[in-house]
Order: sequence, then structure tokens, then C-alpha cells
Amino acid sequence: MGSAATKEDKNQPSSPGKVAVVGAGVSGLAAAYKLRSRGYNVTVFEAEGSAGGKLRSVSRDGLIWDEGANTMTESEVEVTALLDELGLREKQQFPISQNKRYIVRNGVPVMIPTNPLALITSNILSTKSKIQIILEPFLWKKNEPSKVCDAYAAESVGQFFARHFGEEVVNYLIDPMVAGTSGGDPESLSVSNISFLGTMQ
Ligand SMILES: Cc1cc2nc3c(=O)[nH]c(=O)nc-3n(C[C@H](O)[C@H](O)[C@H](O)COP(=O)(O)OP(=O)(O)OC[C@H]3O[C@@H](n4cnc5c(N)ncnc54)[C@H](O)[C@@H]3O)c2cc1C
Repeated sequence: MGSAATKEDKNQPSSPGKVAVVGAGVSGLAAAYKLRSRGYNVTVFEAEGSAGGKLRSVSRDGLIWDEGANTMTESEVEVTALLDELGLREKQQFPISQNKRYIVRNGVPVMIPTNPLALITSNILSTKSKIQIILEPFLWKKNEPSKVCDAYAAESVGQFFARHFGEEVVNYLIDPMVAGTSGGDPESLSVSNISFLGTMQ
């Protein structure tokens, strides 16, 4: 307990310093909260008329919807601590249909498959793409891993998945996932920055 207190003391400014945080998105607000709880005099500057950045809920005609992020994980202890400290537990909501996500294909909502069997039986992809997915581990050249990595180091997430699984997979699985989780575009995100793909290149 004593050592924890000493460690905490090191983070305290000897005299309260002034800090400017630019941007009142979730990052800026979390940083400002941490700094303030450590005794700093914090001012947050925000260009827009309200705080939240990409986190924005709209309430209209009896409906509420999120225009940006709508889910989060508690995989980091800091997030758990922040939820508790800010008293947000009572507002926390858990999805009732966690494994049911849909995309619209040919004007019809199609459930995104969550396991290999569901993918095979689903009509989200053509037979050609399904065969390409199944055969991909056997077709891909694994004999010169370092050469392969160098050659494709600069490619985008879209190019990476198109090379492995085809354009249809990019359009109907990867694009919705990247847009839904980060508002990103698979063609402008670099695949080398996506850590879980690091071993697959
Ligand atoms: C459609 C969509 C869906 C998403 N879904 C999820 C999800 O489900 N789960 C998830 O974890 N993440 C999701 N994300 C990603 C998540 O919303 C963002 O990673 C996160 O909100 C980014 O927060 P931030 O504070 O870093 O940046 P931002 O939210 O972009 O905040 C930056 C703030 O800084 C302000 N600013 C910028 N420049 C200046 C300046 N010069 N002066 C003053 N103010 C300035 C901006 O106005 C803005 O308010 C989604 C994103 C989008 C777009």
C-alpha cells in the first residue's frame, strides 16, 4: 500500500500546472479527467458546439440512435475503473442481440455469419467466394514468408483481404466491419497497423 502511495505521489504536480487539452472527444475527455484528478488545472478546447467527437446520439421522433460508436469492450482495466469512478454503471446497457448483425445486400437485410458453418450456408457471399475462402490456406504461398511480408507491407486492409479472399469479401464483410467499428475505409487503412493480421501476411 505504501509503495502504491509513493508511486501516486510521483504523478502529482508539485504546484498545480495548467494543461490545455485540444478536442473533447472521448480521448480528450478521458485525458482531461485523469489530469484533473491528479491536480492539474485543465482546460478543454473543442471546435464543435458540443462535446463527444465521434460519439453522438441523436434523439428524434421517439427514436434514439448512435451516429458513431455504439459498443465498447472492457478489455482494459482503465476502462473498467473509469466506468466505476464516473458512476456510469447504472447507465450501462448490454446488447440484446449481440451475435446478430445485418448488412443490406440486394435491398434485403442479410445476417452476418458468426461461424464457418453459418458462412457456408448463408447467402451473404457467392459460391465462388465461399470456395476461395475454404481453399485460401492451401493456395497461399507460405514458403518465403519474409519476402511475402516485404512485398505487401504497404497494402491497405482492402487490398489485403481482396488478395486473400476476393473483392466480394471486402465489400460485404470487411467494409461493414471496418466502417462499423471505426468509421474507417478499408482502402485507406494500412494493413500493417492492424495487429491481429500481423502473422497472416
Ligand atoms: C460510424 C462510427 C462507428 C464507430 N463505432 C465504434 C464502436 O462501436 N466502438 C468503438 O470502440 N469505436 C467505434 N468507433 C470509433 C470511435 O468512435 C473513435 O475511435 C473515438 O470516438 C475517437 O475518439 P477521439 O476522442 O480520439 O476522437 P474524436 O471523437 O474524433 O474527437 C476529436 C475531437 O477533437 C475536436 N477537434 C479536432 N481538432 C480540433 C482543434 N484544432 N481544436 C479544437 N477541437 C478540435 C473534434 O471536433 C472532436 O470533437 C466508431 C467510429 C465511427 C465514425
